Amino acid sequence: MSNPYQYAKRNQERFLDEYQELLRIRTISTQPQHAEDVARAAEWLREMMLRIGMDSAEVILMPAGRCPLALGEWNGAGEAAPTILIYCHYDVQPAEVADGWDTEPFEPTIKDGRLYCRGAVDSKLHVMSNLKAVESCLASDDKPKVNIKVVLEGEEESGSENINAFIAAHPERLAADIAMISDGAILAPDQPSLTYGLRGITGLELHVSAPVSDLHSGHWGGSVHNPIQALCEILARLHDENGTVTVPGFYDDVAAVTPQDRALLEKVEPFMQAEWDDVVSAPSVWGESEYILPERLGARPTLEINGIHGGYTGAGMKTVLPARAFAKITCRLVPHQDPARALRCVMEHIKRIAPSSISVEMRPSEPGAEAVLLDVDGPAMAAAAEAYTFAWGVEPVYERAGGSVPITFECMKVAKEVVIMSYGLKSGRAHGPNENIYLQNFYNGIQSTIKFIDVVGEGRG
Ligand SMILES: [Zn+2]
Repeated sequence: MSNPYQYAKRNQERFLDEYQELLRIRTISTQPQHAEDVARAAEWLREMMLRIGMDSAEVILMPAGRCPLALGEWNGAGEAAPTILIYCHYDVQPAEVADGWDTEPFEPTIKDGRLYCRGAVDSKLHVMSNLKAVESCLASDDKPKVNIKVVLEGEEESGSENINAFIAAHPERLAADIAMISDGAILAPDQPSLTYGLRGITGLELHVSAPVSDLHSGHWGGSVHNPIQALCEILARLHDENGTVTVPGFYDDVAAVTPQDRALLEKVEPFMQAEWDDVVSAPSVWGESEYILPERLGARPTLEINGIHGGYTGAGMKTVLPARAFAKITCRLVPHQDPARALRCVMEHIKRIAPSSISVEMRPSEPGAEAVLLDVDGPAMAAAAEAYTFAWGVEPVYERAGGSVPITFECMKVAKEVVIMSYGLKSGRAHGPNENIYLQNFYNGIQSTIKFIDVVGEGRG
């Protein structure tokens, strides 16, 4: 017999075949016509979990029969041992050749060390890396010294409505010492990274109106505060020239960027700058000058105007004085900011600066989400770092992500510690055409999860 690392290497080819088998199932959760495919994949995963030696596995149906969860457990380490909960999602975004794919989106194609297929990175890579790691651990002589729970969601790409309710109703089913959320991307193929912060979000719609209906600008122009102009005046007063949000109270609770944050984030700055140049490619970087790029992107809150609408935008000229205009605004939030309070500050400020010549209506968009800050010095993070270093041969760097992974917040309610372990790449085109992974990332991911299970089992996690 062998150890789990050797087992994984010996079975690499079969693992790749199984990964491709799962990729062929069109688990598109947003499209009701694929509900059967999603259900078939959940059953496929349940059988897989039993086959690899987990004690029990079941498919949990969700309301309306859509997008079930697949849940597996192995409790062979005994009651005194810690428990790891592994979360991944097996549903995917829609994909059609017409979107610009060079290959059939649901037929895995291997070319130059990369595998192309919808779901290849987001997130069947994580589902299969982790299941194959668990298989390797359970197949070896030295059984894991941790109990393992696996939860595979089928509804992540369409709002995760049901999993939160399931966790709230059955917290004991997912209770664990460490929750490992396996989704997302590392910085570069040869540079693993650990995310220790995620931003939260809140937002509103701002409606401005003045006259009862559109008017002739020749007849009435000069006597009415144009709602588009008034809206722009309000929006222009929400930031100063430095890019700092001018809303009183907005920064009151914001967790300061510590010297430790600065030291960690300086290390990812070159990677993020390169990514910015490649993806954003605007004439120059903008934003709060006292913060470095990774801080602006992950450790500082923002107020963003997402859309603005009003008046006539068709062909030719129409001398209209529009009756109304509106904008959509969202704020990315950082630790210690309460979404409701941040939103209240923004709304009160707009009310204060709105001129009396117009009417203003504000509609909050529900629900907001709090930011997450994980313990960068905690034992789970140390175990994750050791796992990456082992699998990649390079120590990971630490970053704070600009977006949210809503399940993180739910997992924090049922697990003592949470880590996010990603094996994909941003350049892997998740959600877009020609989604792909480096096969090496799949194999490294398996080795990394095995190591993580090992380290936590040895009591170092
Ligand atoms: Zn996705």
